[in-house]
Parts: sequence; structure tokens; C-alpha cells
Amino acid sequence: MRIIILNKEKTFLALYLVGILLLLPLLIPYLFQTNLTGGKIQRATILIDPGHGGIDGGTQDAQGHLEKNINLAIGVKIRDQLRQSGVNVGMTRAVDTELAPFQHGRGGRHRRDLNARVEQAKKAKALFLVSIHCDWSTDAGRRGMVAFYNYRDQVGKNLALTIQEELNKIQTSPQKAAPGKYFIIEQPGVTGVIVEVGFLSHPREAVLLQQADYQEKIALAISQGILRALASHSSNRSG
Ligand SMILES: [Zn+2]
Repeated sequence: MRIIILNKEKTFLALYLVGILLLLPLLIPYLFQTNLTGGKIQRATILIDPGHGGIDGGTQDAQGHLEKNINLAIGVKIRDQLRQSGVNVGMTRAVDTELAPFQHGRGGRHRRDLNARVEQAKKAKALFLVSIHCDWSTDAGRRGMVAFYNYRDQVGKNLALTIQEELNKIQTSPQKAAPGKYFIIEQPGVTGVIVEVGFLSHPREAVLLQQADYQEKIALAISQGILRALASHSSNRSG
């Protein structure tokens, strides 16, 4: 009797294994889809946009350190961190270059440059366009990191709010995410935010922004904010 039962168990086990093997190809897409906070994170593309570049240095600190280089360093770190979390990430620029060249006799280079960034976001069907910038003020006492959004875009606002929450964990005085009037976040079909990561006019903040470990901390906060917004966006969509 015992042997028969064992044989039956073996038969069941064999059938079970065959069943799993047959079903596996059907299960694989499902397994990948539900990976990472159970959402559609792996299918979404995030476009990181380090502001300025090439002939356009952006603003600068008292020592002449250019904004474009800080934006790029932080942007690359965000890209690498998000990729480690399995997110599909692109960059408007991964090297020191402008997106629209200076053309003799043709104005509007700055606008063409911004337009090229928006076009990249549309082409990549990016869920979020996250633009990194440094600020500058005539008031040398001003400092801090702020995420800006388009007030008409609820998804963008939510993204800015979560990024701001993460940034506030690492800055001495918490700031509020704010609605902003920027070309790049006002374009239809693009959900963009602008993160101003600090003031180059503030002597201490300018020094910090040159340091790789400080840049890493900022990048981690922004990445975390993006991941959280992505997770809540996905669960809102599927729920
Ligand atoms: Zn800028």
C-alpha cells in the first residue's frame, strides 16, 4: 500500500512539474509586470534633463564653477540609481553639450535648446521629464532646494511634492514645492518638473554643490521621490 501511495505522489509531482513548465512562458510577462511595487514601473520611461550644457554654462558661483557641470553630475547619478532600481531611464544629454547649436544670424538658441529637450521627452514617451538646475540670487543669503511644477498638471505636482519631501530630509530648512512658469514644464503632452538643487550665489551651498558625496545625496533624494511618485502613479492607474 505504501509503495502505491508513493507512486501516486510521484505521478502527481511529475504532472505538477510538467504543468508548471507548460505554463511558464505564459507566466513570464506577468511576473515581470508585477515586479517592483506591483506596478508598471518597468514599462515607464523617465527622462532626466541636466539643464544647459556646451556653450550654455547656465549660472555660476563666485569661483566661476558652472551650473551645467553640477546639473550633469547629479543627472548621471540619478540615472544610475534609477537604473539600479530597474527603471527605464534616458537623458537629454549625458555629456557636456548644448541641445541646439548657436547659428550665426539665427536667434532663439535658448528656446530651440529647450524645445529639443521637450521633443526628446515626447519621442521617448517619457512619463516624467525631470530637469535639474542650480539657482542664483542677488541675495547671497538665499539657499535651499525646491521642486517646481506646472499647476495645471496634477501628476507633475504630485511628482514635485514627493521629490520635495525627500529633499527636505537632507536640507537644513525645509522648502515648499512651488508652481513655476517654465517653458519646459508647460508643454502639453509632457509631465515635467524642475528641481533647483541649490543657490550658486550662496557661498556655503556653492561649495557643497561641488562635492561628489553631496551631489550623490541630492541624487538619491530625487531618485527616491521619482520612485515614490512612479509607484503611486502606477497603483492609481491600475486601481
Ligand atoms: Zn539653469
